[in-house]
Amino acid sequence: MEVKTIVGLEIHVQLATKTKLFCGCKLGFGDPPNSNVCPVCLGMPGVLPVMNQTAYEYSVRTGLALNCQIARFTKWDRKGYYYPDLPKNYQISQYDLPMSFDGYMEIPLDDGSTKKIRIIRAHLEEDAGKNQHEGLDHSRVDLNRTGTPLLEIVTHPDLSSPVECRILAQELQKLVQFLGVSEANMQKGHMRFEPNINLQIIDGGKEYRTPICEVKNLNSFRALEKSVAYEEWRQLDEWKHNHNFTLENLGKQNRGWNDDREETVFQREKEDAHDYRYFPEPDLVPIEIDDAWLEEITATVGELPLAMKKRFIEEYSLSEYDASVLTAERATAAFFENAIAVAGYPKRVANLVTQHGLKIANERNCTVDEIGVTAEQVGQLARLIEDGTISASAAATVFETMLSDDRDPETIARENNLIQQSDTSALEAILDEVLTIHPQAVADIRAGGKKTKKARGFLLGQVMQKTKGQANPQIVNQLLDEKLK
Ligand code: ZN
Ligand code: MN
Repeated sequence: MEVKTIVGLEIHVQLATKTKLFCGCKLGFGDPPNSNVCPVCLGMPGVLPVMNQTAYEYSVRTGLALNCQIARFTKWDRKGYYYPDLPKNYQISQYDLPMSFDGYMEIPLDDGSTKKIRIIRAHLEEDAGKNQHEGLDHSRVDLNRTGTPLLEIVTHPDLSSPVECRILAQELQKLVQFLGVSEANMQKGHMRFEPNINLQIIDGGKEYRTPICEVKNLNSFRALEKSVAYEEWRQLDEWKHNHNFTLENLGKQNRGWNDDREETVFQREKEDAHDYRYFPEPDLVPIEIDDAWLEEITATVGELPLAMKKRFIEEYSLSEYDASVLTAERATAAFFENAIAVAGYPKRVANLVTQHGLKIANERNCTVDEIGVTAEQVGQLARLIEDGTISASAAATVFETMLSDDRDPETIARENNLIQQSDTSALEAILDEVLTIHPQAVADIRAGGKKTKKARGFLLGQVMQKTKGQANPQIVNQLLDEKLK
């Protein structure tokens, strides 16, 4: 018996616009219920929606990054939706003419290879609000989220394991964050996943396909991976008990995910498109885009994170880890490359950016180019460490100072007495003095026993003391080697 898992993913990504898709209401999180609403998103009769152009730009930028064709002509459609969290009773979406289609995304697999997952389409639509039934003595509808721009991305069923689903979702998160089109914050529900799963089973020369199950509304990578794994197990188990458990006999169905029990539960038979009663939205004009505008947007896409990461590893010999940290945000990658443009030393610059720059940026919840240190300063600092002018620990102090001091790091180091003493003859004189005062340590080193290491450390410490910590330890060690060999 041969079993193959087949999964296609639908992903909704919330776009990081300031306002909603068809009205001027603010996109907020955690605001008092129904505080970011207006007649348009409340679905009052007679109101007219106006499209948010930034939302469209963000979608096109993402479509391009997903290697999609961008439609030159699109329109909006109404999708019948009769629930209290969308009071218009329809959702404005794109049905037969999505803004982008026929793309693909490459995902890195654990064995180091990459896999191409084809994208059927990506379209723009509005979100519904939230019904709240828990923690209150009544149910409540909060319409703050109603009308939020969502990009819906639909893949071909090219995924063949729970892990691949999770990797694709995580790569997409990195991509939209890198493009600056979404915060893609999982805690705030900015990404929601709906895997469509079934199995191809070949047994006794016969092929079976189990019913396609769509697991609705998953909001974590973990739930996505676990629910697909659960469906793999459940569908095979059902088929083993009953070979009539097939797509032809049972069609498609929607299931929900119970996070506590870690299992999917049947919700309903799946609607076909005609059940939604799609029809063209009469209140919005169609969208036509021209070459010039498309070129402008294309220019904002640039090199994508996965390609950039590969390039950083090859061109700068960075570790896989450093390369992925530095390419997680466009601002970080640009800062890094501007810093190495000063004097090179990519590994040293990578350390300064990740260990000092990003640490501070995270604390302040900003990007690394906003902490007050310039890429040029970091590039110069890397050179000072590399040529022995200052020690790595002094560099930490200089970095700290540069946050509020825009002078070059050498000036700062000099002013703070952080320049290492690398003048060999001066250090030699000090070392000679130290050796005369401490004959026992010298004897210990010459004896070559287990006291050697300690004695060397002691002598180095004495030189450090006499130079107020500014002796270049590498040079002192060299001198020690020469004098005591
Ligand atoms: Zn509104
Ligand atoms: Mn949708």
